[in-house]
Parts: sequence; C-alpha cells; structure tokens
Amino acid sequence: MKLPIYMDHHATTPVDPRVLEAMLPYFTETFGNAASRNHVFGWEAEAAVDEARHQIASAMNAVDKEIVFTSGATESDDLAILGAARMYRQKGNHVVTGQTEHRAVLDTCEALQKEGFEVTYLPVDRRGRITPEELRAAMTERTIVVSLMLANNEVGTIQPIVELASVCRERGVLFHTDAVQGFGKIPFDVELMHVDLASVTAHKIYGPKGVGALYVRSKNPRVRLSPIILGGGHERGLRSGTLNVPGIVGFGKAVEICMAEMETEARRLRLLRKRLHEGIVSRVEDVSVNGPPVPEVAEDGSLAPGEREERLPGNLNLSFAGVEGEALLMGLRDVAVSSGSACTSASLRPSHVLKALGVPDDLAHASIRFGLGRWNTEEEVDFTVEAVERTVKRLRAMAPMKVSSPAP
Ligand code: PLP
Repeated sequence: MKLPIYMDHHATTPVDPRVLEAMLPYFTETFGNAASRNHVFGWEAEAAVDEARHQIASAMNAVDKEIVFTSGATESDDLAILGAARMYRQKGNHVVTGQTEHRAVLDTCEALQKEGFEVTYLPVDRRGRITPEELRAAMTERTIVVSLMLANNEVGTIQPIVELASVCRERGVLFHTDAVQGFGKIPFDVELMHVDLASVTAHKIYGPKGVGALYVRSKNPRVRLSPIILGGGHERGLRSGTLNVPGIVGFGKAVEICMAEMETEARRLRLLRKRLHEGIVSRVEDVSVNGPPVPEVAEDGSLAPGEREERLPGNLNLSFAGVEGEALLMGLRDVAVSSGSACTSASLRPSHVLKALGVPDDLAHASIRFGLGRWNTEEEVDFTVEAVERTVKRLRAMAPMKVSSPAP
C-alpha cells in the first residue's frame, strides 16, 4: 500500500490511464482546431469532438446537438442559470434553488439578485432533501428557472429529481440540475427525469480538469439561452472559444468507462463505505453521520430490492464530537480527506451544507468528508479506520471538551 491515501474523490479524481491514452494523440499528432473547416487536421479534430459529444449525450439519453462543451461545471452552471434567466426575463424574474447547492450555483443566483431577480433558497430536511410540495409552494407566476442538484458534493444526498422536475414541467418552468457529482455514478436520464438543463464535468469522473458540458434541451421545450462568452460562435453560438479537443476526447472516454462500470463500481464502493463506517463507529465513540443514513447492503454490495439510493455510493460524512475537523485533518496526514467542500475549505466558516441540514456549529466544525473512489482498497480503508481512531482519541485526550450530543 502506497501512502498518502487519496480519499477525497468529490473534490477531484485522478485521470484513468485509459482516458489519458485516448487523449494523448490529440496533443501532438491530431492537434487540429475543430473549427478549421478546410483541412484534414481540422476534420480529424472535429470528428473526435463529435464522437465525445455522442458518448456524453447517449450516457444521459440526450441527442448529440444538445451537448455544449464548456471549461467545467462552474461555467456550465453559470451559463445555464444566467443564460436562462436573462433570456426569459420578459416571462418573469423569479428563480428557485436550494440552500445546499454548490457555490457555482449559489454565487450565480446572488449575481442575479443584483440584476433585479428574486431568488428563493429552499431549505432541506435533515437528510438534505427537498420535497416536491415545498418546491410547488415556492413557485409563483413569475418563476422562470429552478436549479436543484442531482447529488450533493458534501453529504452525497441524491435529490428526488424526477419528482422535482415534474413539478416544473407541469408549470412550464425550466428545470436545471447540477449533475456533477451524480453523472457517471448513478443513473441519470434527461428524458425520464424531465430535465431541461444539466451541468457535468470531466474531472469528477476520472477525466481531465478544465472541461465540462451543459446539456440544453432542444425540443419539448426548446430551451434558449443568452450566451455568457461571446466571440467566434462556437457551440452553436452558446459558448464561443476554441474547443479543448484532448480534454473533450478524455471526457468522452471517461463517461464511456463510467457507464460500462457503473453498477459494479457502485457495489464495490458501497461495500468499502460500509467497511469504513462500521470500522470507525465500532472503535470511536460519539460519531454521527451527516446526511442520509448509510444503507444496508447485501454481500455483493447491492441495495435491498426496492430500496432507493439516497446517498452517493462513495460518500461518507461524519462528525466526531469534541474534535476540531481541521485538527483531525492535520492528524490524518497520510489520508487525504476533506472537511466540508474543498472549494470553501480555505474559510473557517462551518459548511453551509451542514448548517442547512441543521447540524450544530460545533459538530459541523468536527466533520470529515470521505470520498471513496475507483482505486481505493480494503487495505486503505482499514488503514484509514486505524488512523481516525488514533487521531480522534489523541485529540480528545489532549483537549477534553464538553461534547454536545451528536445529531440523531
Ligand atoms: N458543482 C458541484 C456539485 C461540484 O461538486 C463542483 C466541483 O467542485 C462544481 C459544480 C464545479 O465544477 P468544476 O470544478 O468543473 O468547475
């Protein structure tokens, strides 16, 4: 076993060697600009982009022309929300989102408020879920876009997207989902789920960083967007700029692998998570799970028949009462995990996600997010359990503090 161990796969993932291999020729040999229409270098690059577009579209049951390549999901979220709100402004000025969304969505909604839009930030229950009834109650005659994530990046909550999007469909309101953490890991189908706009990114699914896509529905209804990057008219005018051909090829390959391995990967990750969770709670006291409960799994890692997956298979988020999460991270030197979202871990505010779930501040500060991924092993999990036990016990012995009771 090699140290340090990487267990932070919600932040990013290593590039799968099969993905890298697919990308390599597009840096040096087949390096053309996909927009060059008058020579073979351009045609080859365009053909490679077309293939990747097809791989990504078919993985979510979309048609190829509905995929717009971007620099990543932050840009996809921005394009979806700003682009739709500005385009449909004459219809209304109200946008609905959730309190546990990623900053890419929340900051964009705040920017819309400065442009005069009204935004409702829906609360969540203790598991991080929003109900269709709450969404329906929040919508008004002026609502034009709803943006709710497929799966949460901190606590792994999987939203009931079909039910939520159906409410929007009934009312003729556009439904956007930040599908970053779920795409390639759990089933995602834009037709079955009535999704109009969906953001995805390569680097969370063993593809390269800096490449993402936005799904934009082309019929029933045809979604129109006001572009946020202008110049050149690439991607049907929705996102100008020379395409990142090697990145796009890698994204397509990464999606293809995820789709082929989704079920086996999910089972393996559920079993590893069970081992991690049971290992920790059997050795350490006063540990609470943040977000949905960790599900029972069969020996082969499958869920009980009829049981709905409520939490991403590789996600575990725990609070260790009486211990500072940052101190725990320092103590766990050989295991890369995260306290809250990597994007906000520079600030010491308790995670907005845990706060929205109703986790008290002291327990939110005492939380660790484990993100298991493709190459984690049982041996690594066992090492992590021991490291957590050792570190928590040492920290508690050093600074015995009044422990508030863990969230139920
Ligand atoms: N949305 C979610 C849920 C994420 O987890 C992330 C990653 O941090 C993003 C959006 C941003 O994606 P990207 O890094 O591709 O901009």
